[in-house]
Amino acid sequence: MPGYILDLDGTLYAGTNPIPEAAAFLNHLREQGAPRLFVTNNSSRTPEAVARHLREILGIPAEAEEVLTSAQAAARYQAEAAPGSRVYAIGEEGLRQALVDAGLVLCDDADEKPDAVVQGIDRSFTYEKLFAASRAIRAGAAFIATNPDLQLPTERGLTPGSGSLTAAIRAASGQEPVWIGKPSPIIMTYAVEKLGLPADEIWVVGDNLRTDIAGGLAAGCRTAWVLTGIASGVDPEAEMAASGIRPERILRHLLDWPDL
Ligand SMILES: [Mg+2]
Repeated sequence: MPGYILDLDGTLYAGTNPIPEAAAFLNHLREQGAPRLFVTNNSSRTPEAVARHLREILGIPAEAEEVLTSAQAAARYQAEAAPGSRVYAIGEEGLRQALVDAGLVLCDDADEKPDAVVQGIDRSFTYEKLFAASRAIRAGAAFIATNPDLQLPTERGLTPGSGSLTAAIRAASGQEPVWIGKPSPIIMTYAVEKLGLPADEIWVVGDNLRTDIAGGLAAGCRTAWVLTGIASGVDPEAEMAASGIRPERILRHLLDWPDL
């Protein structure tokens, strides 16, 4: 019985709309008793909120324990590097809760001499936060970024993603971050460990060739690229040629799965 690492946005839902085949696909997996983990680069929501979003949008059972966010992975990474350390966070509730849950101490400013700056998406990002982050990093704090996504597709079109804020901090601090989210091996290692199966018995399923599929391939997992979300309407051959990333399976939608 293989396990599944499932992307969320663009794969199971698009913002607040379900992807039509997703609920039936997940019900098939549940009937088979397949282990599954929902893995998202979005650091803004808590795992409880992600599970609630899945239940509300798709009408499927989902629990917080089945979710791994880039915020949780970033918090674990810093907590393992320096247990109980002090962190200046740029992010929303999902990131702040993950850091506190991992036993880290939140600082309000660079004056508090944080050991690390952990940055995710923050829709209240300001010049003051940019200044505090760059000052802390220049004073020796570690620089951890939840995910590299530069833009996010939303109902309002492409909006700035977490990676766009990271770009500002990189410019201001002169330092490169440690990247946590997909395609980083850091979140993939935690995801494989959490599923408790050998990597080659896990399917990584997602709509993003450069994050989901690249991360799955690097982790030694099996990979299925689904042509929904950001991949809807693309020319798969052209995308694969341009990126050099080749998934094991390409599906028009999730119910295209051959042995479902
Ligand atoms: Mg996606």
